[in-house]
Amino acid sequence: MTPKEQIEQLREVLHTHNHAYYILDSPTISDYNFDQLLSKLQQLEHQYPEYNNPNSPTKRVGGGITKNFETLVHKNRMYSLDNSYSKEDLLDWEKRIQKIIEGSINYTCELKYDGASISLTYENGYLKQAVTRGDGFQGDNVTENIKTIKTIPLQLQGDYPNSFEIRGEIVLPFKGFEAMNKARISNGEEPYANPRNTASGSLKLQDSSETAKRPLECLLYSLAGTNIPVKTQFESLEKARNWGFKVPEIATLATSIEEVMDFVTYWDTHRSKLPYETDGVVIKVNNLAQQEELGYTAKAPRWAMAYKFKAEQVSTKLLSIDYQVGRTGAITPVANLSPVGLAGTTVKRASLHNADQIEKLDIRVGDTVYVEKGGEIIPKIVGVNFSKRNNNITPVLYATNCPECNTKLTRTEGDAKHYCTNEEACSPQVIGKIEHFISRKAMDIDGLGGETAGLLVKEGLIKNYTDLYKLTVDQLLPLERMAQKSAENLVNGVKASVNISFERVLFAIGIRFVGETVAKKLAKHFKNIEAIAHASIETLEAVDEIGIKIAESVFHFFQLESNLTKIERLKNFGIQLAMSAESQEGVTDKLVGNSYVISGVFYEVSRKELKELIEKNGGKVSSSISSKTSFIVAGDKMGPSKLAKAEALGITILNETEFLKEIL
Ligand code: AMP
Ligand code: ZN
Repeated sequence: MTPKEQIEQLREVLHTHNHAYYILDSPTISDYNFDQLLSKLQQLEHQYPEYNNPNSPTKRVGGGITKNFETLVHKNRMYSLDNSYSKEDLLDWEKRIQKIIEGSINYTCELKYDGASISLTYENGYLKQAVTRGDGFQGDNVTENIKTIKTIPLQLQGDYPNSFEIRGEIVLPFKGFEAMNKARISNGEEPYANPRNTASGSLKLQDSSETAKRPLECLLYSLAGTNIPVKTQFESLEKARNWGFKVPEIATLATSIEEVMDFVTYWDTHRSKLPYETDGVVIKVNNLAQQEELGYTAKAPRWAMAYKFKAEQVSTKLLSIDYQVGRTGAITPVANLSPVGLAGTTVKRASLHNADQIEKLDIRVGDTVYVEKGGEIIPKIVGVNFSKRNNNITPVLYATNCPECNTKLTRTEGDAKHYCTNEEACSPQVIGKIEHFISRKAMDIDGLGGETAGLLVKEGLIKNYTDLYKLTVDQLLPLERMAQKSAENLVNGVKASVNISFERVLFAIGIRFVGETVAKKLAKHFKNIEAIAHASIETLEAVDEIGIKIAESVFHFFQLESNLTKIERLKNFGIQLAMSAESQEGVTDKLVGNSYVISGVFYEVSRKELKELIEKNGGKVSSSISSKTSFIVAGDKMGPSKLAKAEALGITILNETEFLKEIL
């Protein structure tokens, strides 16, 4: 045998043993013999580097260092899921989808694994790339680290497609998590808070051999992309299992919401026996053609629903209350609790939301309180055990002054929160606004993190985000832990942000209540910052989906001299304060006022492109036919009941060509 053949044979054998051990849970070789074979392979690969292969079983041990994780755009967006909490919610959902699709609906029920989601791409049977969910549109390339997770096959078996994407959840099973924490405590280190955060943190470690040491697993739940050789979700789970992925056998098919509830009820009580954390059930329309027909909302597929298990509750003592100041000056009271275990975590702090909440629940320092962890990471106090109240404790006197800058707090009519209005000098607000400005979804400034931003403020180098554009390498060098290279990266990162699009700049400047979506809406409507700055409250409110609260906040923002100065400076530094010609390409108002429903199969343009075309030209797309529908764009195989409904309502049906003519 040539060395090449020997290497290949060893790889094959090791892949097989790996699969037997980690996926099938039935080892076919002793650990000792496995290690022997592995080190033999390592030795040969070392001797013959020309036969190096990025998917060799030796890559499992890690060793590669990643300094900065590359950002990659997802080919298929990674959506979130809508939540439901009761059988009624599920029945409502079923009603909604029955309006869109015809024929009977079956559901796949799966557990909702609580970890970090991951998208894996395989080409010709080999793992090519692994990307975190990120913001759903783009994530981090964490391939090096992912390769060290033994339940992820580096090489597939069976009848896999040439190229496909598969999604799953990286989890840290309880047992491994506890072992890690035990080791940390005996080393005098702080234990990790919970398995989910530790799992997602593990994917971003710079040294992949550190990731290799963590007992992570990957549970797969869906295939994405075209040319997938299956017709149903359930089949795709089976296929993935055959190709060598770890797909829990728990998934079942249900033919009614009744049956879905049986699954939910069973696992609500039995999930505590599972080796990993779950926070609900995911219910998916089984038929993939029906899924396609249902499509997506802005955030989530219409064909899937998460059913959230009721949160676990514990009681503990409320020791004291702190007040935190956010970037907008909003004050959040935070409870310090006597540490208590809850859903795999030790809880020491909990949110109290606002003064009303404290009053409503009559929460007092010294009380025994009930703490719950819902979907959110921060646990909350949901009530007081009055039978344990000590009679001499008094109601909470809510903070009157800012804990950071001592400015008197204000609270406007109808607003639940107190605010510190010292926007320009209250340290957490100043730092928070800069952190928001540089964050990934905003200006996405490479080489500058929240901690450094705080340091820059403390050292007096910057007072607000516009000062970032004046920073020089020489100014940065004297800072703690700032080397030439990192100083240069920071300055270059800032420079590069002049290319960030107007809508993101609008989000970045931190107008209260202007999130990503609102920023997009405003940018698209007004086209440049002057138009927004000069708009009256009425003009702002007239924009689709902009309410009075947002309109007032935007108006108020541009009334302040300090904000106008900042905008002026951003302009001088070359920041994008108007829509670029490119983003306005193809934008018209030809379809304004019209609402469209897309139905059937298309050949010239995809469904997604159709939707984009309608929106770019000012129209609206909705998923079900109603009296508000102006037109139906129908492809091949439009369902008969839809057709009947359209005819009954007298709605004009356009075919693909007819529609395209309208916007030419
Ligand atoms: P959420 O983040 O609450 O909107 O829920 C969506 C996330 O649930 C997805 O990004 C997945 O990471 C996760 N998830 C866990 N288990 C499943 C499953 N069986 N099917 C689909 N998504 C799942
Ligand atoms: Zn303050």
